Amino acid sequence: MNTNLPEELQMLQRSVRQFVDDRLTPLEREIEEKDEIPRAVIDAMAGMGLFGLGFREEAGGQGFGKLGYCVAVEQLARTNASLWNVIGGSAGLCGTAIDIGGPDAVRTRYLPDLLSARKIGAYGLSEPGAGSDAASLRTTARRDGDSYVIDGAKTFITNAPIAEVFVIFATLDPKMGSKAISAFVVERDAKGLEVGPNDPKMGLHGSTTAQLFFHDLRVPAAQRVGDEGKGFAVALATLDYGRMGLAAHAVGAAQHLLEASVAHAKTRTQFGRPIGANQAIQWMLADAATEIHAARLMVYDAASRADRGERVSDRASMAKLFATEALGRIADAAVQIHGGMGYMRELWIERAYRDARIYRIYEGTSEIQRLVIAQGLLADT
Ligand SMILES: Cc1cc2nc3c(=O)[nH]c(=O)nc-3n(C[C@H](O)[C@H](O)[C@H](O)COP(=O)(O)OP(=O)(O)OC[C@H]3O[C@@H](n4cnc5c(N)ncnc54)[C@H](O)[C@@H]3O)c2cc1C
Repeated sequence: MNTNLPEELQMLQRSVRQFVDDRLTPLEREIEEKDEIPRAVIDAMAGMGLFGLGFREEAGGQGFGKLGYCVAVEQLARTNASLWNVIGGSAGLCGTAIDIGGPDAVRTRYLPDLLSARKIGAYGLSEPGAGSDAASLRTTARRDGDSYVIDGAKTFITNAPIAEVFVIFATLDPKMGSKAISAFVVERDAKGLEVGPNDPKMGLHGSTTAQLFFHDLRVPAAQRVGDEGKGFAVALATLDYGRMGLAAHAVGAAQHLLEASVAHAKTRTQFGRPIGANQAIQWMLADAATEIHAARLMVYDAASRADRGERVSDRASMAKLFATEALGRIADAAVQIHGGMGYMRELWIERAYRDARIYRIYEGTSEIQRLVIAQGLLADT
């Protein structure tokens, strides 16, 4: 537990921790094995206010700011990563894009439902041919009177199978790159929207991912998020917050793995003494604790700056890069310290190891975070 936080955030930290221990952890094996999150669990997380934590109260949120959001996400990371992934894809990405881009009529219509999880949201940017290079997307939007007509496809969209509200990105002219991209809110029952089947994954069991297909999908112009041609700016500003949340989740997951590794190092004896008496094990623990401490400070710094209204693209990318790379090393060390038991399904360590792998890929790979950081450095000189 971090004691340097304001009292209000320490209380939030404690209450989310208690909620995770009492309500979520007992279900983690069932969620993992069935690859399904019961709706009652989503409702319970919504009842705790977890969907609206970082949003303004006027928008339907809890008003804890981005720092409060990160503090809570850290605690949520003590159980299946899929649980937070539902929140991250829905409120974190879809809700944030709507909040950033507006207009007010769209905010008022969708945010209260998204931030209370009455409706689940999804964020459709990636395409089969446009992942890291998202600005090269090929889904088209053609203006037709008071509407746009959208054609194309999206891939790997978190929550797509259960979502009722989608923010999707499309281009008015594929030759114009990022300058022609606009964002739109599409509802589940819109004619011309097809959602593919849930795609099975290595980890994140319980979280759903699918393709989207648009066939002459007509969207009223009033459903556009942000100005025409400014959708990519909305996408990038949204990802600043998404990346902070991911970094916070990585910190919490790493902390949980470290605590289990310390406990195991104290209790498992070999050669007549606890394995933690060996310097080889001590160094793994010391490196993990050091990296977690640094990563947490980076996350809290980025979130605090965002709460003060600063643009934090570089710091969010640094926090995501550092925290998720550290989590990869710490998850690997945790399996190593647990020996054979670390590899067995009986313990949650192997699930956490599989869950940890995605952090370095989605919302921009580690290579793309480095690209963002370097572009910021070079632009300043
Ligand atoms: C489980 C899951 C959930 C997801 N959820 C969503 C979602 O909700 N919404 C959404 O829009 N997307 C989502 N994504 C997509 C995700 O953001 C992309 O997978 C990610 O951005 C990488 O794109 P890609 O898979 O096409 O990989 P590619 O872009 O093909 O990259 C392949 C490799 O090449 C490297 N590479 C690419 N370009 C460069 C470069 N310039 N320099 C150095 N290396 C480079 C990459 O780092 C990577 O190692 C999700 C993905 C997964 C797996």
